[in-house]
Amino acid sequence: MRQSLLYHAFGVREGYDYVETIYQDGCVRFVLSVRPDWIKCPACGGKDIVRKGRRYRELQTVPIGLKPVFLVVEVPKCQCAACGKRFEAAPPFAPAYVRYTHRLQAFVEALSGRMTISDLAALTGLGWDTVKDIVKGRLEKDYGHPRLKELRRLSMDEIYVGRRKKFYTLVINADTGHVVWVAHGRGGDCLRKFWRLLRLSKAKVEAVSMDMSPAYWASVAENLPAATIVFDRFHIAKLVNEKLDDRRREMVREATGLMQQTVKGVRYLLLLRRDNVAAQRLPQLQAALKHNEPLNTGYLLKEALGLLWEQPSYAQMKSYLHQGCAGALDSGVRQMQQLGKSLLAHASGILAWWKHRISNGRMEGINIKIKTLLRQTYGLRDERFFTLKLYLQPSSFKTHTSRMNPKI
Ligand SMILES: [Zn+2]
Repeated sequence: MRQSLLYHAFGVREGYDYVETIYQDGCVRFVLSVRPDWIKCPACGGKDIVRKGRRYRELQTVPIGLKPVFLVVEVPKCQCAACGKRFEAAPPFAPAYVRYTHRLQAFVEALSGRMTISDLAALTGLGWDTVKDIVKGRLEKDYGHPRLKELRRLSMDEIYVGRRKKFYTLVINADTGHVVWVAHGRGGDCLRKFWRLLRLSKAKVEAVSMDMSPAYWASVAENLPAATIVFDRFHIAKLVNEKLDDRRREMVREATGLMQQTVKGVRYLLLLRRDNVAAQRLPQLQAALKHNEPLNTGYLLKEALGLLWEQPSYAQMKSYLHQGCAGALDSGVRQMQQLGKSLLAHASGILAWWKHRISNGRMEGINIKIKTLLRQTYGLRDERFFTLKLYLQPSSFKTHTSRMNPKI
């Protein structure tokens, strides 16, 4: 085989000679020997080498068609005559301690965005874990350290992923939607390392979107005193729904007769925005509200608060919020009074939305991504790989085809 083919196909550089080809067990093996004049002492660079025997290393490389290809490479055991250093002349076209070449590694990396790990393992004949480690190494290099310097607006949230892993805390760049931090667990403690990295990056964060729970609030106030806190509109809408549902459940327990009949089975009708309720179900909703005064009060408040973010100016949004809260406090419905109090206590953060227009809306998409990743099992087997997959954005996925381009 010609030297140039060895080089272009398998990345074997000068210094190695082709010896023979072995066709065996459906595989192709190229045996290569190292040229004696090519061996140098790694300590002193001396070329006066005493050979002390040899072994062969079998390295898998890129397949030819569907046939697996191995390079059987001579590895001489040597001793330097000048300084006495003992060493093995390792092939430069393969990483240390593995059974594959740089070329096969690049091949796997290049296809990793388009094929699953199992597919790649089947195609190359490498083990599933080996393929995963190659892909992971690439992701670590490309995405392992998200750039924090440009961060201006963040959103942070916890995501529940099931009984085994429970919670993850995520920080997202609210402007680009990129995940910039993932930590197992929930609450301010998970963010300690993030704050340190953020300080080192000298990012000037202006606003942070989050739910109204005190854990993140306190942590942000302590670590980003200059940033504005924006309470996420979706969490607020969820809170309003929870209060309304709480009221409904109380009524189901207490109700009798006609009242009980009408209030049953309307949960989802109540929680949907009125615009989204199907026309044929409206009479059912109306009947439930007609016979249940406190529920009706709560429902009207919920519908009204939904319009808070559609007010045409900051001043109008502010007065709308205060009116809504006053209505809630006067409603005489316990859950709505609690809600009114809570919203008033968080008013400045709710209204800060007007200026920054950020929310945790992107979390929804990331939630779906997490569930998909966890279904693919490696999420549970390798935490760091799971994190890297979250850092990776489909839109910014780098392909490594340039390294694969033949230049023959
Ligand atoms: Zn030497």
